[in-house]
Amino acid sequence: MEKKEQLYEGKAKKVYRTNDPERLIVDYKDDATAFNGLKKGSISGKGVINNKMSNLLMAKLEKDGIPTHFVEELSDRETLVKRVSIVPLEVIIRNIAAGSFAKRYGVEEGTPLEIPTIEFSYKNDALGDPLINTYHAIALKLATEAEIETIKKYAFEINRQLQALWKECGVTLVDFKLEFGKTSDGTVVLADEISPDTCRLWDSETGEKLDKDRFRRDLGGVEAAYEEVMKRLSGHMA
Ligand code: UDP
Repeated sequence: MEKKEQLYEGKAKKVYRTNDPERLIVDYKDDATAFNGLKKGSISGKGVINNKMSNLLMAKLEKDGIPTHFVEELSDRETLVKRVSIVPLEVIIRNIAAGSFAKRYGVEEGTPLEIPTIEFSYKNDALGDPLINTYHAIALKLATEAEIETIKKYAFEINRQLQALWKECGVTLVDFKLEFGKTSDGTVVLADEISPDTCRLWDSETGEKLDKDRFRRDLGGVEAAYEEVMKRLSGHMA
């Protein structure tokens, strides 16, 4: 596969065209941002970890019946993926109250939720990714009703699978963000990444945060936390 010109540079990844119009190469960076780009920094080695972790998790999900954009890992930081048009919704699943949910509803971070929840944000940096309900998303033609039904079904199934997998690694899956895309034939597939940048992962025993909140909240030990969860996952999957 031939890597061609850069199509796009995001906050954490660059995307390149290839000689196959249906395939793109993503290249994971160490750059980290938070609070809609207000906080900027770098997490050394993050790109390598996020690339590897996302690929391990997507390959596992694909094997267990969830269609994903993952095709093949090319190097430490580069992965071949299916070209998709991203559905402009951030899909957030929560098992335990944390972050914006805990703040919005005035519940203590760490409170277990009676049922897993789903919420959507409109992916729009200029607007600061506002919360959106499914009626508004359909009204604005961000997705069709059928696509949203598919996305919900996949998102909760992904939660069941990842919760079980992380539990076996001694890690509690608190919440996470997913993005979906549509391939050229309209198939909805899981896209973007699943990593400590996009999940809250807490040590099951100590409750220690092993994710991007260490960067967001200046807790220190950011690199070590990413390395620790990666080590546990690869040890488990080996
Ligand atoms: N998240 C993300 N990208 C975003 C917003 C949230 O990956 O732009 C993830 C975040 O890491 C967490 C989950 O989605 O695992 C829920 O985040 P929340 O809504 O609590 O927002 P935050 O408190 O991170 O601003």
